[in-house]
Amino acid sequence: MQKLAGIGASKGIAIGKLTICVSIDDNNIEKIPVQDVPAELERLENAKRLAVDALNAVYLSALKRVGEKNSMIFQIHIMMLQDEDFFGAIRNRVRENKVNAESAVWETGKEFSNIFAQMEDEYMRGRAADVIDISKRMIRTLNPAYANGLDTITEHTVVAAADLMPSETVQIDPEKVLAFLTREGSKSSHSAILARTLGIPAVVGLAEQYPRLADGDEVIVDGGTGEVIVRPDAETLAAYRRMQAEYEQRRRELQQVRGTKAVTKTGIEIEINANIGHPGDVEKVLENDADGIGLFRSEFLYMENNTFPSEEQQFSAYRAVLEKMDGKRVIIRTLDLGADKQVPYLDLPKEENPALGYRAIRISLDRRELFVTQLRALARASAFGRLAVMFPMIISVDEVRECKSVLEQVKQQLSDENIAFAPDFEVGIMVETPAAVMMSAELAREIDFFSIGTNDLTQYTLAADRMNHKIADLFDSRNPAVLRMIEMTVENGKKAGIWTGICGESAADTALTEFYARIGVRELSVTPSAVLELKREVQQLSV
Ligand code: PEP
Ligand code: MG
Repeated sequence: MQKLAGIGASKGIAIGKLTICVSIDDNNIEKIPVQDVPAELERLENAKRLAVDALNAVYLSALKRVGEKNSMIFQIHIMMLQDEDFFGAIRNRVRENKVNAESAVWETGKEFSNIFAQMEDEYMRGRAADVIDISKRMIRTLNPAYANGLDTITEHTVVAAADLMPSETVQIDPEKVLAFLTREGSKSSHSAILARTLGIPAVVGLAEQYPRLADGDEVIVDGGTGEVIVRPDAETLAAYRRMQAEYEQRRRELQQVRGTKAVTKTGIEIEINANIGHPGDVEKVLENDADGIGLFRSEFLYMENNTFPSEEQQFSAYRAVLEKMDGKRVIIRTLDLGADKQVPYLDLPKEENPALGYRAIRISLDRRELFVTQLRALARASAFGRLAVMFPMIISVDEVRECKSVLEQVKQQLSDENIAFAPDFEVGIMVETPAAVMMSAELAREIDFFSIGTNDLTQYTLAADRMNHKIADLFDSRNPAVLRMIEMTVENGKKAGIWTGICGESAADTALTEFYARIGVRELSVTPSAVLELKREVQQLSV
């Protein structure tokens, strides 16, 4: 038995077998010179045979479950793998560059994928992702070190990975993953946030202890304390099974809070909303009886796609959420890509300081066509529920005016086209930069509400990277500097007659709830699984 101490990022206890996942990307595929080229070519041919056999098996099983039309994709993958242009190019790379098969497959896969991505025909463009898929399958077949990926999980298992990028976490099947463990990451990295949304226990930032994990080990994960116990003895296992049962019991007791409002003993009401990243998360919001949605991180729609989601695609996603929420307010944030949330098709160059770089509203205002598409989809969806829109990473009044002016143009277009929308939906901004706090008096006059993003506000105020586990103790949303920033924003909001909410992770920090209620925060938006606990906390306050 071994005990590891990481950072508890999503509460809950999980017990199960460990699967170590390795993602296949440029950082993980090494180019290694080979001496024996014929042997390397032989490895390649063997792997191809095995991959084709495996694909055939997947095809036959899919055929039974989902029918001919939905299983065709696996036949296409087999054909691509057997295509001489593609496979010949891989062979040539091994032969001419005398390199290992893994790197030859990866480089060729990327090259062909780029060619497909630039084709006129939409169907052919869609094949770009398939080439990457089959290249990954080949590499996983070639080398057992790459055997498992997040996309290959089929059983109930605890997943360990060096790092989880948000784009990978969205591929995870929450039914199959008992818990997450990562070497990198911190409590407010986006993969931790996603784990909380899905209600999956997670421990991140295991750092140099990470190599002590081995594939197939039995582990206990305590996402509250950050403890990970590898190969537990019988006594420990029994103790944790008891704790797991008690935890479930407490969660069941919280159900009594359902159907009640978050009102303090002194009569102050706070709206308790939920944060989501995907239309499917609405089920969790309703299950936990949130008053509404305080933050829909729309960029996750972009991260699940191989190309920019069209106006129609976005419209139907936003509309579905609004309809399911049935008149309760849904605050949708315009896209916040960049920094740790990348999509390959945006093709952003590597930056020295991505958190301080080209991201969020800066991209939207620069790439107008993207912004207009999203705002059109949002405005159209406003006809189907109570929509509010907010803009991320604002630093100035000018930016807000520019955003509002694009929104006005979009509304004008829709009117001209006789397309319905709610003319007066609320418009707000995220307050997550110190500049927005300092300008909050002026900014408040431009909009309907403030939503404080304490994740980024803490990072920028304390100059402490939210992703860096080495300085996890510096990244503290209870730091008085951050609390003063929050108080100043709420004050300036009140003076201008607008409401202020908090949607960063520290909205769920019950040690701060009394402070928030006292200074006049009107709304708290948290991960769905934290809603009921927070409602109960508010109900016990006498402010
Ligand atoms: C925040 O910064 O607090 C926030 C809610 O936005 P995100 O975590 O998506 O950056
Ligand atoms: Mg933010």
